[in-house]
Amino acid sequence: MLRVGLTGGIGAGKSTVARRLAELGAVVVDADLAAREVVEPGTPGLAAVVERFGAGVLTPEGRLDRPALGRVVFADAEARADLNAIVHPLVAARRAELAAAAPAGAVVVEDVPLLVETGLTPAFPLVVVVHADVAERERRLVTERGMTPADARARIAAQAGDDERRAAADVWLDNPRRDGGPDPLPALVEALWHERLVPYARHLRAGERAPRAAQAVLVAPDPAWPAEAARAVARVRHVARDRALSVEHTGSTAVPGLLAKDVLDLQVVTADLATAGEVADDLLAAGLVRSGGRWYDRTPGGTTVDKAFAANADPGRAVNCHVRPATSPVWRHVLLFRDRLRADAGDREAYAALKQRLAAAPHADVDAYAEGKSDFVDAVLERAAATLPPPQLP
Ligand code: ADP
Repeated sequence: MLRVGLTGGIGAGKSTVARRLAELGAVVVDADLAAREVVEPGTPGLAAVVERFGAGVLTPEGRLDRPALGRVVFADAEARADLNAIVHPLVAARRAELAAAAPAGAVVVEDVPLLVETGLTPAFPLVVVVHADVAERERRLVTERGMTPADARARIAAQAGDDERRAAADVWLDNPRRDGGPDPLPALVEALWHERLVPYARHLRAGERAPRAAQAVLVAPDPAWPAEAARAVARVRHVARDRALSVEHTGSTAVPGLLAKDVLDLQVVTADLATAGEVADDLLAAGLVRSGGRWYDRTPGGTTVDKAFAANADPGRAVNCHVRPATSPVWRHVLLFRDRLRADAGDREAYAALKQRLAAAPHADVDAYAEGKSDFVDAVLERAAATLPPPQLP
């Protein structure tokens, strides 16, 4: 099963996207519906809300009076936090229940208006954000949902801003105003479904990583890499929890200004090799598939040290996740190498030149490319050891 978190500011078009995905075959779990269920009359959720806010938030029939509660919480951040603390855990549990009922191999789209606000994005292997600008959302809420402009503005202001949502988004769907012209959104959603979600779910179910080109293609540094890596790191942390002594973005994409293969390298350090294997297995929940067989690093001394390895099932974002035991010397080398390249422009430029030579050589397959780098890496590590403090586990 692939769990997709779908979110967007109120009025952005999230429900419209969810409907289209449901038509295409997704199992849609609606957080708003779950949020209503957990405060139905007779539920512990409703009892807790009444205890905090008083019987004034009930209708004469004893149901939750949403407009009355809305007036209280939208005007008062503390009241809103209290309400969230009551309702969010109940909704999350209900959503998990609904998602778990979906068939194996399904694409489960969880439509969660406050996904970013509640900090739950790392729990989803993919986050889709639907976007429209604030003025257009306000217009939709007023003309199509009958809100007053002040009400619409207050609701928009109570949610996350565009920057926070952008940082959380693996997929960003722009849904600007349709002025009678063609609507580009359905085609965007269909492409997302066929080109990304369906193969992603298929790879997860088969326990296989997404295919990659055999050639090592170098690309210019992408300013999006740090944010993409931050999301991948957060997902890995979410899954590994305290079994991860450290989770870091490593490799060339972690060095600003360095050209690289478009692959995010992550390093997880665990107490021992057995834990590394367990974490690598569990990374499936973060969209990363463990590769079987023996995985190891070669040290500068020429010995080999075992590790575990997982890579992306997502056809849209290549990630290599190396899970190394703290007993391996290599985790320190990886951090030292990265930090030296970040700090030293000379080594960074020499490395970029070497990479380009290796990539341009005939038959530049991935293995030959890695082999050609090792002497250079050893020399950089020596300079790094002389200039940087040894990496520590936090
Ligand atoms: P959300 O679920 O994000 O709050 P909805 O999908 O319910 O948003 O959309 C809000 C309103 O705006 C709906 O009435 C919808 O029909 C309308 N809408 C959605 N997309 C557009 C668009 N591109 N242009 C104009 N109106 C739109």
